[in-house]
Amino acid sequence: MMPLPPGSVIGVLGGGQLGRMMALAAARLGYRVHVYTPDADSPTEQVCASATVAGWEDEAALDAFADAVDAVTLEFENVPVSAVERLEARVPVRPGSHVLAVAQDRLAEKTTARNLGVPVAPFEAVTSDTDLEDAVELIGAPSVLKTRREGYDGKGQRIIRTAADAAPAFADLGRPAAILESFVDFTAEISVVAARGLDGDVKSYTAVENRHEHHILALTIAPAAVASSAVKQAEEAARTLIEALDVVGLLAVEFFVTPEGGVLFNEMAPRPHNSGHWTIEACRVSQFEQQVRATAGLPLGATGFHHRAVMRNLIGDDADRWSDLVAGGDSLYLYGKAEARPGRKMGHVTRLYAPDRPNWPPQDAELP
Ligand code: AMP
Repeated sequence: MMPLPPGSVIGVLGGGQLGRMMALAAARLGYRVHVYTPDADSPTEQVCASATVAGWEDEAALDAFADAVDAVTLEFENVPVSAVERLEARVPVRPGSHVLAVAQDRLAEKTTARNLGVPVAPFEAVTSDTDLEDAVELIGAPSVLKTRREGYDGKGQRIIRTAADAAPAFADLGRPAAILESFVDFTAEISVVAARGLDGDVKSYTAVENRHEHHILALTIAPAAVASSAVKQAEEAARTLIEALDVVGLLAVEFFVTPEGGVLFNEMAPRPHNSGHWTIEACRVSQFEQQVRATAGLPLGATGFHHRAVMRNLIGDDADRWSDLVAGGDSLYLYGKAEARPGRKMGHVTRLYAPDRPNWPPQDAELP
């Protein structure tokens, strides 16, 4: 299949900062981006050639969008599968609806991982009070009760410290379809962003460490300073998953590092990932360009890093410091969001470090 020539239009589903950075990468390669999002004046729309602002149920808008673009990708994995299937009938969508169906559902993604031999913490499906009792019996406590759908940044989760916590936690979440999984006493959280081209070529960025504050990603440290056995297992698992799911595009996979130096799969997202922003400065080809390349049918680019990097998210009013941040030596990104609500990702900064520096990770005073 011929790659999309320059001047072609790439459609992007979702209008957040990931789409914004992807649109900038697409523009660099000579493509136009048309975003589809329910939100007006989104971070993506602000940097796009064209936009459709319509709901995911708007069939006429979906059809018109499909006819206006040459290929579609996404920056948000919770687009209803029915909307993506409708688009797929008219235009290539990369990755396809079959990938979203798995990635939108924690039970499906953990089952997929387990069936492929990727290690996961013990888990059980919960849809009723009776299931919950059985699951607590099997999994025990401490454990974590998670909604199957639409949880992120710690939302839709409750820690079960003793068996007696389970029923109130389930009620508090609104008795959703859920999973109960064993609490993992991890030493670190790491992630791998893998890319797969239309030709089946797979390339991964090095595993990175992610540190959270208040359940939101605060820092990404690239590369991760964890046991090489954990890095190797994570990179192999990401490859296994991206190939088995037949993804064209990106697959970001999050893992817990165990005290024994292994990893347990936590979750995955078939799109650019917050833990991959560092690749813009530190790698020849960023995660965003890689997704554009895969969507357009171009060969993937090199994923090696020429610097080490730390990325810090600017959450809520952190971004008020923009004039100091822009005067420092770090690369500053602001996402064009009008309102700095608490917990909202407003931007990020990336700091580069020499690739061969002796001390890694950096001390607190050396972090951005
Ligand atoms: P998730 O939405 O599944 O990524 O979970 C958000 C965060 O909650 C993770 O990044 C972990 O810090 C924590 N967490 C989730 N699941 C577990 C678990 N099974 N054991 C320990 N901590 C967890």
